[in-house]
Amino acid sequence: MGFVESLKCKECGELYPKEPKHVCEMCFGPLEAVYNYDEIKKHISREKIASRPQNIWRYKELLPLDSEPTLGTQVGYTPLVRARNLAEALGVSEIYVKNDAVCYPTLSFKDRVVSVALSKAREFGFETTGCASTGNLANAVSAISASGNLKSYILIPHDLEQSKILNTIVYGANLIGVKGTYDEVNRLCSEIADKYNWAFVNINMRPYYSEGSKSYAFEVMEQLGWKAPKHIVIPMASGSLLTKVWKAIKEFELLGIVEPQGSRIYGAQATGCSPISTAFKNDWETYKPVEKPDTIAKSLAIGNPADGYYAMNIIRDSGGVAESVSDAEIVEAIELLARTEGIYTETAGGVTLGVTKKLIEEGKIPRDEPIVVSITGNGLKTQDAVEGSLGRPALIGPTLEDFEEFYSSKKL
Ligand SMILES: *Cc1c(COP(=O)(O)O)cnc(C)c1O
Ligand SMILES: [Zn+2]
Repeated sequence: MGFVESLKCKECGELYPKEPKHVCEMCFGPLEAVYNYDEIKKHISREKIASRPQNIWRYKELLPLDSEPTLGTQVGYTPLVRARNLAEALGVSEIYVKNDAVCYPTLSFKDRVVSVALSKAREFGFETTGCASTGNLANAVSAISASGNLKSYILIPHDLEQSKILNTIVYGANLIGVKGTYDEVNRLCSEIADKYNWAFVNINMRPYYSEGSKSYAFEVMEQLGWKAPKHIVIPMASGSLLTKVWKAIKEFELLGIVEPQGSRIYGAQATGCSPISTAFKNDWETYKPVEKPDTIAKSLAIGNPADGYYAMNIIRDSGGVAESVSDAEIVEAIELLARTEGIYTETAGGVTLGVTKKLIEEGKIPRDEPIVVSITGNGLKTQDAVEGSLGRPALIGPTLEDFEEFYSSKKL
């Protein structure tokens, strides 16, 4: 079973068998999974998808496994919220929040990609997994590896949020803090992956890992009533999620599952680490790596984004825009989403909503067409970022008089 025919170099087109391999030997371009869509057409339909359990595997024909999934079998199908209060606050007619702050099991969209990568790693016979991570990936690899009795080695920049560290260690991973930036961590992991026979989900397993991101967009389209999104705003770290949302839309269009809508893709970054949006705004051919990222949106702090070039081109070709927001705007947007919709997102979500707001105000996203905001992680993991700006609870004594004194002072 399985519909991936081969891996293909995105640059020179060289084909490779399905192996744990991510770089072309001819030109060092990235490898991508290529599917047999003629065959898939015979197996997939709206009705068939709808009849299956509500998790990412309901789209299994478009995911890169050759056998049934063994890990993360219940991941996905998070809510798409019609956000009416937020729409009113932003002055738009129709806005939706795709809420992966509640993704199972580790509260970020990384649960999707890791389920796919580790199920594939199992197919290949790996017993040890690993990753280079800005935080959420570490959480997902540690948890999902634990559930599958796989050993894991996880490398992170040493200065990540405390909560992202605890949420990794608790599942029993070998967690290693590296004194360096994410890009240095990533380089080290490439060397380790070459030397040891381990499944590094975002390195040698990357062509499979990244396909898992498509499930986010498949769900959005199904939940919109089998419609492609007209405008969708996506946070960018390496740029992988953005490129795969585009691929998912193109696949559903090709297979006749949705009608083409002329979907526009918007990319969001934090100003303190914005190689892709800076290149986009300056109309550069490609991005310049950021040496020292400096932002509270640590989960997006990748200075040298592997898919940055492709993300930029997709944004351009779709007629979208890339933009960035400051740390203050990120916190403001986190509060806006919490207070209008009761959804608490992490800093990455603040980036996405902050950019959405900015683009609406600048007239770059029209107010009278449906907009989807991609919320990809949970606020409970980045408490440090908002701690100083939210105020404190009132403090009173334990009697009714105490309360009434407080309440009457409030009313004045
Ligand atoms: C990893 C991550 C992203 C996007 O990552 P890409 O590398 O661009 O695919 C977005 N939001 C959160 C919360 C993340 O952890
Ligand atoms: Zn190549």
